[in-house]
Amino acid sequence: MEKEMQEIAKKLLAEKKVDWVIGYENSFEPGASRPVFINKPEDAVKLVFNKSCVNNLSVYLPKVKKQKAAVIAKGCDLRSVREIIKEHQILRENVVIIGVACEGVDSSKCATCRENKLDGADFTVGAVKDLGRKEDLSDIEKFEKLSSSEKEAFWNKEFERCIRCYACRNVCPVCYCPDCFANRLMPEYLNKVVNTAENKVFQQIRMQHVFGRCTDCRACEEACPVGIKLSLLTKKMSKDAKKLFNYESGKDTDSRPPLSTFKVDEEGIVEIM
Ligand code: SF4
Ligand code: SF4
Ligand code: SF4
Repeated sequence: MEKEMQEIAKKLLAEKKVDWVIGYENSFEPGASRPVFINKPEDAVKLVFNKSCVNNLSVYLPKVKKQKAAVIAKGCDLRSVREIIKEHQILRENVVIIGVACEGVDSSKCATCRENKLDGADFTVGAVKDLGRKEDLSDIEKFEKLSSSEKEAFWNKEFERCIRCYACRNVCPVCYCPDCFANRLMPEYLNKVVNTAENKVFQQIRMQHVFGRCTDCRACEEACPVGIKLSLLTKKMSKDAKKLFNYESGKDTDSRPPLSTFKVDEEGIVEIM
């Protein structure tokens, strides 16, 4: 599988079909991998794929959008690639998608893999198997049954640990604003003091910005150094976007994210005023 992936990358670079191949290489730590940008055909041998290849590499595509890039994508990453194509952050003709057949990496998301199919990829490495796994929303349903004060107590406990490192934002494929509200000083939307209240405001605004665009890829939860349960938020958003707007982010490159369009009468929304 790695050999096949390396051959594809080498050919794309040698024929100058792309300027970059974004993939994974072995890290200095045994058994670990890290993202790598390759621009020489002879360096394609560095590419690896194994269970440590957890990163969602689509986050790098908007950074090279003026050039042509190939990206290694697992089924779940492909959803993010579709979403950022749809949002015009990259041009489809500038991206070569090298899909890798995946049976799981070292991530909690894989036990409930929603999609490992590689529809729309330009190349498919390996054979995609039906993993027979499905989404599990039982934790969300349990959380929804809590009272408002219980929910507040839970999130206070989570966000008192937040150190506002912004890793969750930096790894998110749909958090690409060059001028993020969290960095603004004039006007200042967010106090720079790191405390539970401000930490919650940061994540509330971020979640509002990614509603209906988040593909529940879990990159943010994986990156959080203090283990905040961000998947409770991202799964809830996916569930609500489906229920309220019949929208699944990353499913295709044509449909519009729910908050970028509107209908005079939204079937799933009950107006109370
Ligand atoms: S969620 Fe599915 S496609 Fe994504 S890494 Fe896990 S098994 Fe592979
Ligand atoms: S990655 Fe975790 S600690 Fe860092 S800002 Fe996000 S929620 Fe807070
Ligand atoms: S799961 Fe997190 S990183 Fe992935 S798209 Fe949603 S908010 Fe962004």
